[in-house]
Amino acid sequence: MIRVCHMYPDLLNLYGDRGNIIAFKRRCQWRGLPVSVQEISLKDQINFREQDFLFLGGGSDREQNLIAADLMQRKKELSEAIEDGLVVLAICGGYQLLGQYYLARDGEKIPGLGLMDFYTRAGSRRLVGNVAIEMNIDGAPVKLAGFENHSGYTYLGNCQPLGRVLSGNGNNGRDGLEGASYKNVYCSYLHGPLLPKNARLTDHLISLAMKRSGNKEPLPPLDYDIEEQACAAVLDKLGIQ
Ligand code: GLN
Repeated sequence: MIRVCHMYPDLLNLYGDRGNIIAFKRRCQWRGLPVSVQEISLKDQINFREQDFLFLGGGSDREQNLIAADLMQRKKELSEAIEDGLVVLAICGGYQLLGQYYLARDGEKIPGLGLMDFYTRAGSRRLVGNVAIEMNIDGAPVKLAGFENHSGYTYLGNCQPLGRVLSGNGNNGRDGLEGASYKNVYCSYLHGPLLPKNARLTDHLISLAMKRSGNKEPLPPLDYDIEEQACAAVLDKLGIQ
């Protein structure tokens, strides 16, 4: 059984990010892989050591503030699970909270978990629009398409990006980087939601979660033509071949 944990679905739920859980779950089910999804929110108990894939979606500054203290109480267990190979996808607001802090536009400094070496500060203008990036999956370059809408500008320290910007802003509209990655943690500003039209990333996350669940079999192949067409439609709009 691949065990999925959807954190704060009632609060970090911007721009249809729950579609990432739907895409992950469906591409498991279409392969006949058993998968369970557990939703946890403020004060709910969870043992991250018993989870394989954890998802954190996007949220407004207000929602991020609401969950920061609750998330901070889970820091030790989450850090240990990440070091042990927990697969994580964190989008936008959820992404920002894994870093050192997020200095919001109103001057509020929302503390992050500090699990990855980056910080975020609200910039002079919101970064909004379609985005295309190129990342590396198992040694192969893969183009991803999505939509960004954030006031936070993220600056990486000793931390790998998810990919490089081909079109759009990415982390801060300046350094050409998008997202962040560490071990099996993948962070991105790409809403859309991200996974439904980027099936190769979805399958990469599933294969990692499958291994963590103890299933050492190779990932059963599954067609992704329709997903690729959806991705290509955005790339074409951006003039990306
Ligand atoms: N509130 C954060 C920002 O504006 C994150 C927004 C989001 O999750 N889309 O940068």
